Amino acid sequence: MPVDACPLCKGQRLSAFLHRPSVPVHQNLLMQNRDQARAIVRGDLVMTVCADCGFVFNAAFAPELISYGESYDNNQGYSSSFQHHLDDLIALLINEKGVRGSQVVEVGCGQGQFLQRLVEEGDNYGTGFDPSYTGPREVMSGRMHFESRYYDENCTAVPADVVICRHVIEHVPDPVGLLKSVRSAIGTRANAKVFFETPCVEWILKNGVVWDFFYEHCSLFTASSLSTAVQLAGFRVDEVKHIFGDQYLWLEASPIDSQVNLDGARVSELAVTFSKRETALFKYWQDRISQLAEDGRVALWGAGAKGATFANLIDPQCELIDCLVDLNPNKQGKYVAGTGHAIVGPLQLGERRVTHAVLMNPNYRQENETILKHAGIATNLIE
Ligand SMILES: [Zn+2]
Repeated sequence: MPVDACPLCKGQRLSAFLHRPSVPVHQNLLMQNRDQARAIVRGDLVMTVCADCGFVFNAAFAPELISYGESYDNNQGYSSSFQHHLDDLIALLINEKGVRGSQVVEVGCGQGQFLQRLVEEGDNYGTGFDPSYTGPREVMSGRMHFESRYYDENCTAVPADVVICRHVIEHVPDPVGLLKSVRSAIGTRANAKVFFETPCVEWILKNGVVWDFFYEHCSLFTASSLSTAVQLAGFRVDEVKHIFGDQYLWLEASPIDSQVNLDGARVSELAVTFSKRETALFKYWQDRISQLAEDGRVALWGAGAKGATFANLIDPQCELIDCLVDLNPNKQGKYVAGTGHAIVGPLQLGERRVTHAVLMNPNYRQENETILKHAGIATNLIE
């Protein structure tokens, strides 16, 4: 069914700027073998921008195709660079934002590692919601509870002083609906705070990162459109900033009604420019990978959503790229959804005689260089 209004602001000045038919619906599902990987369910990507509020969304998204069950794993915590990022957020929340002795709800808690740290280090109480959560329902003698389910309007009986929602809202086709559920869980606690972290689509568009558009991320934001979304749900934005080398947005809000601001002009312009560049960007990466493959075996470093998307775009038939490398041991020995490329650990780059590994995220360069150096592996890291 064609979308005729923006899911955020209901504006009708929509334009599609990226079309990719039949892409894998999941990037972070653990695939046990090549056949299973290639048989992944597919859907269409029609990334669309709203000229009124700047919201970017997949107009062809079909939520019934998605399942964030037990075999979903997008844990980035095995990387020390990412751990530093998490350390910074924990310190910010506890020391600067005063998240202590509070009832914390985390929406989309994964396996609960971040929430556990926040509860332990800030003497808080926590409840985590995530359909992929597989651990016990209660831990730390009842200081923490987990529910293996999506957070929605039925979860709002769990009281919250602080709500954390990291890397979730981009997976939700109706972000204002989710935000309104959060707002109703807070109720009349006027001093409550909410914190959101999500990718910044402006960074993706400006940097021409073609592999940062994929099916799981059906809703993408700028600082401005994320602010609009929380304002529409009855919050006031206290702060919004860029973090993690500008790739992510961090937004803090309070449950206070405020004016709704709309500003879609800038991101619309960036989307038009990106659209004009997209074919050239594909060709650049295809040529680049082909050249590298003439010189020896090529790997991609990072088998998360970025690496899986890159592999599907540039090497759908597994002809140019030998394998994908990932530090997450649960991914090693598994296969990339869509293409069936093998996922290996970094130490296997030597055995597989991989000459070049292309970094899917330059934020990890230094860490990966150190791993290779310690292991005496001579693979070149390319970005
Ligand atoms: Zn809009």
